[in-house]
Amino acid sequence: MDLQRDIQYVKGVGPARARLLNRLGILTVEDLLYYIPFRYEDRSNLKPIKEICKSGGVGFLTVQGEIVSTRVVITPRQRRKIFEATVGDGSGYITAKWFNQPYLKDVLMKGSTVVLSGHVKPDYSGYGVFMEGPEFEIIGSGDNDLIHTGRIVPVYHVTNGLSQKVIRSIVKGVLDSSSIPEIISGDILDKYNLPALSDSINSIHFPAEGTGVDTLNNGETAAHRRLAFEEFFLLEIGLAMKKTSVTKETGIAFNINGNMSVKLSSLLPYKLTSAQQRVINEIKGDMAVPYPMNRLLQGDVGCGKTVVALTAMLTAIENGYQSALMAPTEILAEQHYRNIKTYLDEFNIPSAVLTSGVKSRAKDAVLNNILNGRVSVIIGTHALLEEGVKFQRLGMAVIDEQHKFGVLQRAALKEKGYNPDVLIMTATPIPRTLALTVYGDLNLSVIDELPPGRLPVQTRWLYGDRRKDAFYIMQEELKKGRQAYVVYPLVEESEKVDLKGAVEMAEKLRKAFNGYNLGLLHGRMKPAEKEVIMASFKKNDIHILVSTTVVEVGIDVPNATVMVIEHAERFGLSQLHQLRGRVGRGGDKSYCLLLTEGYISEEGRLRLTVMGRTNNGFEIAEEDLSIRGPGEFFGTRQSGLPELKVANILRDAKVLEIARREAFELVIKDPMLTLPDHKLLRNAFERRWKDKLKLATVS
Ligand code: ADP
Ligand code: MG
Repeated sequence: MDLQRDIQYVKGVGPARARLLNRLGILTVEDLLYYIPFRYEDRSNLKPIKEICKSGGVGFLTVQGEIVSTRVVITPRQRRKIFEATVGDGSGYITAKWFNQPYLKDVLMKGSTVVLSGHVKPDYSGYGVFMEGPEFEIIGSGDNDLIHTGRIVPVYHVTNGLSQKVIRSIVKGVLDSSSIPEIISGDILDKYNLPALSDSINSIHFPAEGTGVDTLNNGETAAHRRLAFEEFFLLEIGLAMKKTSVTKETGIAFNINGNMSVKLSSLLPYKLTSAQQRVINEIKGDMAVPYPMNRLLQGDVGCGKTVVALTAMLTAIENGYQSALMAPTEILAEQHYRNIKTYLDEFNIPSAVLTSGVKSRAKDAVLNNILNGRVSVIIGTHALLEEGVKFQRLGMAVIDEQHKFGVLQRAALKEKGYNPDVLIMTATPIPRTLALTVYGDLNLSVIDELPPGRLPVQTRWLYGDRRKDAFYIMQEELKKGRQAYVVYPLVEESEKVDLKGAVEMAEKLRKAFNGYNLGLLHGRMKPAEKEVIMASFKKNDIHILVSTTVVEVGIDVPNATVMVIEHAERFGLSQLHQLRGRVGRGGDKSYCLLLTEGYISEEGRLRLTVMGRTNNGFEIAEEDLSIRGPGEFFGTRQSGLPELKVANILRDAKVLEIARREAFELVIKDPMLTLPDHKLLRNAFERRWKDKLKLATVS
């Protein structure tokens, strides 16, 4: 059977079922073959009901038997309808109960043979057990071909109107009538001991007898491994092509031997760390060659990425180009501007800031200066990507805190007709596996060292009575002339309530810390107001900054040594780490105090424990990934994360590494997969990733 055939024309499907299958994302025969069961049940070896009852067996279990009686009962008080079916298998009987589904009486009839899978619980008498709302499957007399029972059976995500049995039969029919051609070379399969595609697809749907159900459910069989490899392989081929296609575009070959970097070093009040120096060299290496740089710079909070970016920007400027720096928030853009301007002024380099806070008349002037090349450095928010912004000669674009942005700025710049060198920076380290999938087409630099003399921030989780320790520590630090942040979470349901929380907190603190100046910062303030508050905090006119999460990213006030986080359980790990990164930026000992109240979920407790255990952003990122999973880690809106059907980034990290290595080697040998041997691979690749990877060069 042609794998691209419309699913509608497969035996047993037809237009009505095709619509249901389409709803599951299954349009073709191939889609169906790659529709992987999410769970397996061993029905070859079912426990006799008697044993389940005797052992008081609680847990998720499967039984098979004949329905011997059914009834609908109505609970006396709440008047809920419960449908009950009692099933016997010759060894004993068990009753299954479904709440509020009385119509089941017309589905599950006396005399039918059924398979029930569900939770077995002790019943109210305390002596027996029952099954609560199990999934069921009616086994008909024609079902003796052993695909629905008597073996390990696949369980699929289904949709209303499409039963397990129907989908299972369709899959079986397709498997029996298709031959699935191999798309990966025998060399690679042999090298990593991977089974052939056809075998893998067959056994992922109908596993051989004796395969462990746990192994299957954990996705740890050879078939899973093979299909995960294939999925990553196709993805990484795309990333490899993207990467090489960028290196084929024409970019600027900057002269990197100017003296501005040297002069900058002499202006800095500190010496660059060797990690900073190494990364600067990597960046300059990219700048020197005549194609566009596409580099991701990762480094933990406070490692000093800004000065690295500044060096790159200066190098572009001394070659006669403009540099732009984009930050995710207005506050951060302003901070960068103030900070960087002090250095730029030493070089007499004109600069401008462009945020939505810049008013129209002033804004026109700025836009004009950017267009005429009267300013060389432009710092701003994503306002920089707006239509009206035209550069005279953009040579370097730095994107700070990429994590907050999504992944498309480079494309946006290109659409505007620029092809500058691009440096993307993130302070929320990304676990290596994710970096390889989401940013796999970028070159990677890592600053893995903090400036010398930094003391690790002391993190404490305080609740109940110990909350007052937080205020004590704050008091002591304020006495020493240090400053403090108190952060209040933003609860999405109601901004008003949050604000109230933060305002009340501020009032309370104002009384408790009589004699110190307190400032309040929140998302509803106008940019200009925020700026005034931030500037006073920076100048130490404000000693305590009470804030909603707007201080999260990038803010740099080295004299602040206390970070108090209220309702710390509500924050994600990366966010907590970002917030903690606001302190510990000077040479003084700093504190991060995580306050909680009341009940905390297990996940919440885990996060707080991780925070206490490590200060290392990379470790935290790994934990965050394993707690939340890749989709959540990036946030759904901006994920850029490819949808994976079989592979699991956590489980299959090793598979990803080898798939990437093989993919990049392959693309070196056959950049567009045009060799005859790669024809099927190329077809598969195009079908699966072309749209998603926006590969302009693949036609
Ligand atoms: P991040 O990487 O989080 O963006 P920043 O660039 O804001 O970090 O730097 C954090 C702080 O460390 C700043 O106050 C900066 O001046 C300082 N800094 C940067 N590099 C060094 C260094 N090599 N030695 C000492 N302090 C440094
Ligand atoms: Mg920064």
